[in-house]
Amino acid sequence: MSPLIAASLGAAVLSLARKRPEANFARLVEDAYFRGASHIHLGERARYRVDGELVAGLRLSRRAMAGVARHVRGLPRLVAFRGSTGFELDLRVREDVIELLVRCTITLGLDTLDLWPETAERLTRIARERRALVLVAGAGQSGRTIAARALLAELNPERTRTAEREDLERWEELDADALLVERLRDARTADLALEAALEGRLVVATTVACDASGAEARLRGLAAPALLPGLALVLAQRLVPRRCCTCTAGCARCKGTGKKGRVALQEVLVREGSGLRLARSFAEDARWKIERGLTDERACA
Ligand SMILES: [Zn+2]
Repeated sequence: MSPLIAASLGAAVLSLARKRPEANFARLVEDAYFRGASHIHLGERARYRVDGELVAGLRLSRRAMAGVARHVRGLPRLVAFRGSTGFELDLRVREDVIELLVRCTITLGLDTLDLWPETAERLTRIARERRALVLVAGAGQSGRTIAARALLAELNPERTRTAEREDLERWEELDADALLVERLRDARTADLALEAALEGRLVVATTVACDASGAEARLRGLAAPALLPGLALVLAQRLVPRRCCTCTAGCARCKGTGKKGRVALQEVLVREGSGLRLARSFAEDARWKIERGLTDERACA
C-alpha cells in the first residue's frame, strides 16, 4: 500500500471515530423522541422525562456516554435535528439536559408556553421595564409553577432568585433583578412582593385560582390597596390534551391515541390605567389553538 493511501485511510478511520459520539447522540435523540420524551438528562446513564416522570433511557457504554456528553458540550443552545425517518425537532441544550421541542408547537420567544403573540410581546415589555408583578394562576396540576419558571427563564435568565417569604423580608439585599414567589397566599407576602415590584424588580408569583379574575380578586383581598398598581398582568392557565403532531390517526409515539402531552389554554388580564382589562379569554385562546391544530374541540370542552 502506498504511504499516501495508508495516510488517507488513517484519516478516514480517525474521522469515523470522531463521528461516533455524534452518531450515538443521534441514536439517543431518536430513541427519546419515539418514547415520547420531553427531555433527555445526561449522566452515567441517559434518562428521559416522559409525561413528567424520569425513566431510564437508551443504554450506552460509559465511554459512549462520555463521548455524547462531550459532543453536547460543543453544541449551540438551540439545535435543529432531523431524524432518520424524517421527523424534525429543535433541541434546546442546557448543560446536561436536552429539551426536545417538536416543530409543530407555536414558535415564539416564549415558545414552550404556547402564548398568544400579543401576550408574549407584552410580557417581554414588562420584563424590560421591570417594576411589575406578574401573577401566574391555575388550579392544581395546571402547570402554573412550570409556567412561572419558564417565564422567568426566558425573560430574565440572569439574576433571578426564588424568594421564600423569609427572603422577601429582605428583598432589597437580594442580589436579584427578578424574583419568583411561589404560592402567594398571605397578606405579608403579597405586600412584600408588590413592594419589590413597585421598587423596580420583576416579580413573578404563582397563586391557586381557576381563572385570572379569581386570581386578581385573591390578591386584592390580601394586599394593601395602595400597592395594587404593582400588579401588571395576570396569566391563568389550564391544561388540555395536545394533539400528536407526528400522526393524524395514531402512531407509536402517541400509543395510537392521537394525543401526546398537554397544551395550556390561557386567560390574560393586563393593566390599563387604574384597572385591569381582559386581553384574552380562555375561549379565544382555545379557538386559536384548535385552529392551529394544537388541540381539538373535544379536548377543550
Ligand atoms: Zn401520533
